[in-house]
Amino acid sequence: DGLIWMDGEMVPWREAKTHVLTHTLHYGMGVFEGVRAYKTSRGAAIFRLQEHTNRLFNSAHIFGMTIPWDRETLNAAQCAVVRENNLASAYIRPLCFYGAEGMGIRADNLRVHCVVAAWEWGSYLGEDNMKHGIRIRVSSYTRHHVNVTMCRAKATGSYANSMLALQEAVRDGYDEALLLDASGYVMEGSGENVFIVRDGVIYTPDLTSALDGITRRTVMTLCAELDIPVVEKRITRDEVYIADEAFFTGTAAEVTPIREIDGRAIGSGTRGPITERLQSLYFDQVHGRRDR
Ligand code: PLP
Repeated sequence: DGLIWMDGEMVPWREAKTHVLTHTLHYGMGVFEGVRAYKTSRGAAIFRLQEHTNRLFNSAHIFGMTIPWDRETLNAAQCAVVRENNLASAYIRPLCFYGAEGMGIRADNLRVHCVVAAWEWGSYLGEDNMKHGIRIRVSSYTRHHVNVTMCRAKATGSYANSMLALQEAVRDGYDEALLLDASGYVMEGSGENVFIVRDGVIYTPDLTSALDGITRRTVMTLCAELDIPVVEKRITRDEVYIADEAFFTGTAAEVTPIREIDGRAIGSGTRGPITERLQSLYFDQVHGRRDR
């Protein structure tokens, strides 16, 4: 239950519907965001709201879609769904999609609809895994062209690949997948950026292949504060195997330790000390327990 912001109005959850001939449902081009609001001493606060809204507009621009609202309105809609649903903390999902006014690949003549929903959502990869780490496998699916060339866009059509990778990982008993690019370099998880730690230095794939994650940016700032060097570079699969620590970052996954990859323990096979430190600073930051 609750309310969803839909094309400028608050509508009851059950009435926030779309037609079966919705263009995006057929051809998969829409843009969206994943945002979180956290409980702070001043009530629920949306973490990095403007950055998420900016990325939504950039995603739309990359895909040639015109969002019929301005940034302020979509910021306000995200605040409103948290407030009007009385959520102390929330996962917020803005989505812009093409309507059911016409079929065929052409979309510039269709109406762009926007919705913003919010609900309570705990740890994406499991509370226990946040302490002890997840087990992952390298996916047999590599990222396709649209992801590799458009890693600054968060678009519905780019996720078929992530879904196949996660489906395969879960079927084989793992928690998450790690996707490689077509040349075999490490890219990211199905919905997370990846970091490894080796000899006190942190490495993460550069943005030629992975999404420009907002959590990634936040964690890199925290590393700078801790004087831990971060190197953005191409990473090979075996570098992950011999890392001291590894972790995923994402709005949904927050900072999730990785304890095993392809049946090999990473470091001590549990959450590493640098990961734990970054995790705790990240949670302090999102909950407004830090000055910066
Ligand atoms: N990579 C992919 C493919 C994602 O879907 C996400 C989730 O948004 C991320 C990385 C992490 O990005 P962010 O930290 O902005 O949520």
